[in-house]
Amino acid sequence: MRLYSCACGNRLYFDNTKCTQCGRDVGWCQGCAAITALEPEGGKFRCLGDPLGDGSRHLVTLCQNYATEGVCNRTIPEGGGPFCDCCALNETVPDMSVDGNRERWARLEAAKRRLIYALDRLGLPFGAGTEPPLSFAFMGDPLDDKLWRKAGEEERVYTGHADGLITINIQEADPAEREQIRVDMGEAHRTLIGHFRHEVGHYYWDLLVRGQCETQFKALFGDHENPTYSEALERHYNEGAPANWEESYISAYATMHPWEDWAETWALYLDIASVVDTAEELGLVPRQQIPSVDEMLRRYRALGLVLNELNREMGMLDFATGVINPAVAGKLEFIDLVVRRAAKPGGGGFLDKGPAM
Ligand SMILES: [Zn+2]
Ligand SMILES: [Zn+2]
Ligand SMILES: [Zn+2]
Repeated sequence: MRLYSCACGNRLYFDNTKCTQCGRDVGWCQGCAAITALEPEGGKFRCLGDPLGDGSRHLVTLCQNYATEGVCNRTIPEGGGPFCDCCALNETVPDMSVDGNRERWARLEAAKRRLIYALDRLGLPFGAGTEPPLSFAFMGDPLDDKLWRKAGEEERVYTGHADGLITINIQEADPAEREQIRVDMGEAHRTLIGHFRHEVGHYYWDLLVRGQCETQFKALFGDHENPTYSEALERHYNEGAPANWEESYISAYATMHPWEDWAETWALYLDIASVVDTAEELGLVPRQQIPSVDEMLRRYRALGLVLNELNREMGMLDFATGVINPAVAGKLEFIDLVVRRAAKPGGGGFLDKGPAM
């Protein structure tokens, strides 16, 4: 993730909606591919970014979810709208009559924008023209008298992916609820961005592996057709993960079925690539070509050691947990290959980077 700058010279961050120094509204300009300062102009806004250095500046409008809902910080180029490139992917949004749902939705959108940034950065296909296009549904379990209740199986909202649609149960956007689930499930981390990275892994399996490189996939992750997903699910919930799972998987959940192993490892790939990318942008590590997944892992481990100690000083969860064993590294290499093969011109993965975006 890059850092950005305001017209006043102040530093801006990816999540900003206002400059703390000059008070200008700021937002993501698609034309600039950056967070830029915005100047009101005849009911619209003039983006004060100047990507070509010739003074030609974008006229933009605010995304409806920025202007009226306060859950977005993106703008729309002339002729577009009413939603930005990220919000346009929403199929279902939370019920705004429920207390706290606006805050939950805002957290979901913030994590989703980071996901979309990473997909763009990698040059991965996902929007219009991709079949199926990626879409999102943010929904809650039913409420009784404004309190969550235990819902029956058929009315429960399950976080998951099907045919391009990523559904997230918005209780995951409630920090107390999410932490409770994390502890119950014995997970090292449970975050919104983690959910997005995992579920989009299922999307890319359908898009980039199914019918294309399933044989290679099976050799690394196992046979996804035998046992079936539902058989594997039942076995996992009855028997749990094998005792020695840490020798060949990144998480206990990854042992459930080859598809979950793929999604867990895909999420790890996006974690590592995003962390290394941001560390480079912040100047923590030199920005240079990374020749291999091994080198990417070496950088991630070095950052992880430092960040774990800093987190421990603040009494927070470890930043990087567990050891990435050779089996997982091999799976990451395959994922990197799939990503590079699918990348649009200008993308090409974090490893194969061109000039900074
Ligand atoms: Zn400013
Ligand atoms: Zn612009
Ligand atoms: Zn938006």
